[in-house]
Amino acid sequence: MIDIDQYFCTNEQCKCYGLRSQGNLIKAGTYIKQGETKQMFKCKICGSRFSETRNTIFFNSHYDSATIGKIIRCIAEGNGVRATARILGLSKDAVNAVVLKAGQHADEMMCNLLRNLHLTECQMDELWNFINKKNAIRRGFGT
Ligand SMILES: [Zn+2]
Repeated sequence: MIDIDQYFCTNEQCKCYGLRSQGNLIKAGTYIKQGETKQMFKCKICGSRFSETRNTIFFNSHYDSATIGKIIRCIAEGNGVRATARILGLSKDAVNAVVLKAGQHADEMMCNLLRNLHLTECQMDELWNFINKKNAIRRGFGT
């Protein structure tokens, strides 16, 4: 069952943008993507419609949530990008893309991620350490 209070309007112009439990969202049909049924929501304030996967790392990803889940778990267990790619039989670039995308979805999005993947707090800590280290390297520090 979808808990509508876990979602928020994704329209940046809306006064309810990013806010949960405002009573502004209604369910607005479903669609099927890669064999999984996805819920659509509509915001009663601004009228915008969006998918349950909007504002999660699953949005616009060409991997299904199971594959992304495996990547995140693998990284969270302390494996590097190269090892994760090898374990899952994916390209290093693909793993990189998912990890970096996960890193861009901080704070608000972590709740969605946690709920979808059922990661433990410890696994999340390791994931963030990894992402922070990786971002530091990208900025030219830590190498
Ligand atoms: Zn809205």
